Amino acid sequence: MNKKTVKDIDIRNKRVLMRVDFNVPMADDKVTDDKRIRASLPTIQYVLDQDASLILMSHLGRPKGGSDPTFSLRAAAEALSTLINRPVKMAPDCVGPEVEAMAKELKPGEVLMLENTRFHPEEEKNDLEFAKQLAALADVYVNDAFGSAHRAHASTEGVARFLPAVSGFLMEQELEYLGRAVANPEHPYIAILGGAKISDKILVVETLLSKCDKLIVGGGMANTFLAAKGCNMQDSLVEESSLETAKEIMAKSGDKLILPVDAVIADKFDAEANSQVVDVEAIPAGWRVLDVGPKTLELYKETLKGAKLIVWNGPIGVFEFPKFAEGTFALARMLAESGAVTVIGGGDSASAVKKAGVAKQMTHVSTGGGASLEFLEGKELPGVAALMDK
Ligand code: AMP
Repeated sequence: MNKKTVKDIDIRNKRVLMRVDFNVPMADDKVTDDKRIRASLPTIQYVLDQDASLILMSHLGRPKGGSDPTFSLRAAAEALSTLINRPVKMAPDCVGPEVEAMAKELKPGEVLMLENTRFHPEEEKNDLEFAKQLAALADVYVNDAFGSAHRAHASTEGVARFLPAVSGFLMEQELEYLGRAVANPEHPYIAILGGAKISDKILVVETLLSKCDKLIVGGGMANTFLAAKGCNMQDSLVEESSLETAKEIMAKSGDKLILPVDAVIADKFDAEANSQVVDVEAIPAGWRVLDVGPKTLELYKETLKGAKLIVWNGPIGVFEFPKFAEGTFALARMLAESGAVTVIGGGDSASAVKKAGVAKQMTHVSTGGGASLEFLEGKELPGVAALMDK
């Protein structure tokens, strides 16, 4: 990675302002899943080990206009305090004289959690006066919030204009592994794309096709390709407006593109629907594709044999319904057993590998859904671009 990390600059005894992703699920004022907090611990620990004082900032949810206790980061601060076994002071806001005084009084090794940055509309507007006020709290800026890096907000982009700006270790890891998918991949490199719609992922399809050796397309996306090839998809999700694009992609991708040959179909879009397995050319009227079939899974297995790098984004079936989750889970297990470097692109695919019980066997599971998708499109994320180059 060509971006400086927290290890590349001297932070000893400095005040460090660190953007984390503490946008955690909550119930009854308690954090119900502390995964995102734990993901930032290596950087937090490193900063504290350098005798720096640490000021943390994050957004939480989508508060509408001003301060709102429902979206307070207080519970996240308490959860962090338990994890690092030291006090975490809670600021009443993220800017203003009281917060400035609290930041100034921090001693080496002390931690201050700022209140939700989205309590100020200036955050999402990337207002530079607001960013300057955030920057005034510290000497150095560290961004470890990969999941928010695709947004040019004051806490992810603006603030980096006023302070030396470097990445944290989580950010570094995300850039390294997702970077392989779009920069210098090991070969054979197999990319897998699923999910509902092609229209959301056209750019990803094109970027990955230009880099990989085979592109497996499954899920709702595959329906539109199959329809463009002439299969009657009956009641399946097909994007009429993307049929031409699908044809163009197939014409230039040659034998790189791997489409399903059979499917698990349903008589309605429902967890309890009747199901059967058919070839993709033989879908009866009134039925729809909700998962890939066993012949397709065999084909995937063959395709993945010997792969050095596998990148996966998007489920290949409606895995929210147990009856139609087998394709996605079987694919997750294939990745776990592949011996390849496996990179999971956040969002639904991250939750699928978790549900399949193989998340720990993956090389890297991205913490950012939207951010990983934009990264795989080959875009430079504003929160990354703002960091200092090595
Ligand atoms: P995306 O956000 O585009 O990655 O899409 C994820 C969604 O695609 C999941 O909620 C899946 O249920 C859905 N999906 C996967 N396969 C299909 C399919 N064959 N038909 C309809 N939806 C699907």
